[in-house]
Amino acid sequence: MIESIDKRFIRKGKYQKKCNKKVSQCLTCERKCKIKEGEIGHCGTRINYEGDIYTIVYGCIPAESCNPIEKKPLYTFHPGTTAFTVGTYGCNFDCFWCQNWHLSHPNPSTIEQVKKSKDYLSPENLIRKAIRNNCEGTSISFNEPTLLFEYSLDVFDLAKKNDLYNTYVSNGYMTKKVINDLIEHGLDAINIDIKGDSEMVRNYCGTDVEKVWRNAKCFIENDVHVEITTLLIKDLNTDVEIIANIANRIKEQLGASIPLHLTRAFPRYKSKNHGFTEPTPLKYLYRALLIAKKEGLETVYLGNI
Ligand code: SF4
Repeated sequence: MIESIDKRFIRKGKYQKKCNKKVSQCLTCERKCKIKEGEIGHCGTRINYEGDIYTIVYGCIPAESCNPIEKKPLYTFHPGTTAFTVGTYGCNFDCFWCQNWHLSHPNPSTIEQVKKSKDYLSPENLIRKAIRNNCEGTSISFNEPTLLFEYSLDVFDLAKKNDLYNTYVSNGYMTKKVINDLIEHGLDAINIDIKGDSEMVRNYCGTDVEKVWRNAKCFIENDVHVEITTLLIKDLNTDVEIIANIANRIKEQLGASIPLHLTRAFPRYKSKNHGFTEPTPLKYLYRALLIAKKEGLETVYLGNI
């Protein structure tokens, strides 16, 4: 399977553990997939080849653009600047409402996209393009940036040498070792999704939101600029109690000055199968804004309206 992939996309995964002769564990994100020889992890980007785990998306960049930093959204980090933004294929979450599914959950699969991809962008060329386009920084985004972890470290090192900032737009599900490396190599800012309460995130994303809260706190404690986004999906996470709890936790655990972006979801990907057929009505966004403010958050923004 690995033989038909551009060799430049393949790098040994930095964090992994051998379980036995046939199974190794990927320690890039908190899914911590145990992957049998010849098989692929949950996100579709990591493969067990002869007992070692390899990423197959290093520098595989099907999407790139120069974006205002506000588009991430990062509103209070270098406003008015532009970030050279890249993303790859795959995702470690299963959200049926995915707003960017063409990259995160492509059809056919991530590995099929990677096999036919000719979109190699070296870290050096990424930085060259950023400078040529007068960007002040980089952003790894579009799909989950943790899946480009090894690539990010090389990009960040070069960005720092060229006085550029580095940002991530993430579901915040990376392991602590990955966080430490990202910080050490120069991650300056991150927007993290808090998708809902623990039940909703477990049922619909297949993950543990407590790990995301833990990571958001860890980034803040290490002086990384953090902003939070909650995509509002009608009847899934628009309840008064859910919004109040998210806002209250941000205030109590992260700080009242941490910006919260409440953004409007549109029916995408598998939304129709779940009865989500119309964009979330604006009244839910305005109500959520008032709730978050009432809970004591200083900076709350609405998005996609
Ligand atoms: S990065 Fe992918 S393979 Fe690794 S643990 Fe996460 S979902 Fe599994």
